[in-house]
Amino acid sequence: MPFFGAHISIAGGVHFAPERGYKVGCNAIQLFTKNARQWKASPLKEEEIINFKEDILRFKIYKVIAHDGYLINLAAPDDRIFSKSFESFTFELRRAELLDIPYLVMHPGSHLGKGEDYGIKKIAKSLNESLLESETKKVKILLETTAGQGTNLGYTFEQIRDIIDMVDKKDRFGICLDTAHIFAAGYDIRSREAYEETMEKFDKILGISNLFVIHTNDSKSELGSHVDRHEHIGFGKIGKDPFSFFINDPRLKDLPFILETPKGRSPDGRDWDIVNLETLRNLQQ
Ligand code: ZN
Ligand code: MN
Ligand code: MN
Repeated sequence: MPFFGAHISIAGGVHFAPERGYKVGCNAIQLFTKNARQWKASPLKEEEIINFKEDILRFKIYKVIAHDGYLINLAAPDDRIFSKSFESFTFELRRAELLDIPYLVMHPGSHLGKGEDYGIKKIAKSLNESLLESETKKVKILLETTAGQGTNLGYTFEQIRDIIDMVDKKDRFGICLDTAHIFAAGYDIRSREAYEETMEKFDKILGISNLFVIHTNDSKSELGSHVDRHEHIGFGKIGKDPFSFFINDPRLKDLPFILETPKGRSPDGRDWDIVNLETLRNLQQ
């Protein structure tokens, strides 16, 4: 049985996320462990950590995933931005481990004009150093496939493979596949044949066994547009049906399917997360 969930707000503290997820029908959740738009955060309080772990059990959240902040760029050519990114990422590894969260999803980074080769090497080196610096033992870093907007790296499976080839502790790494991102990056998934072809490429280059999370988003933007715009399931350029290929793929059966679709209310007044989770569950065969 796959797990279904959404990215959940931590307004008021991380310990509010499990119940919020439960209320919209999640048995898996993704969260930021701090404000994603700021560098700084106050340390987690002992009480918050305890409450968080208790509520993960109480509300039957079987899969928990952390996502790194928006400001972090481990390929940043600017020294000041880079060192802030490095510190912040290291801090996030520690926070995830303190909360017993097994995965930290991250966007590889943007080379900002320095070139893809420069970016890929810098990302791999930073990941190696950050893991050492963090002194964490468990949390797995999941490199997310990207749309390739601007100078973002990770829009081809080969780029992600090249980063993983250069990391030292291979067992501390895995992959998060984002359906909207790979589609915008040019990997078609709209027909059964296209889906199989894309997954075959993924398997050959990265290995499906290294996949731990699926970000389940429809796309406002076209195939190959390199524009990263998420849409409600069935309302975008991917459409509803291709999501059944993912959800019913026996190779993905134990993975969490996490929505990162827009929040708010649908036209019939329901929470959009409830609506999108229902759409996904109804595609199960
Ligand atoms: Zn992401
Ligand atoms: Mn994503
Ligand atoms: Mn995105």
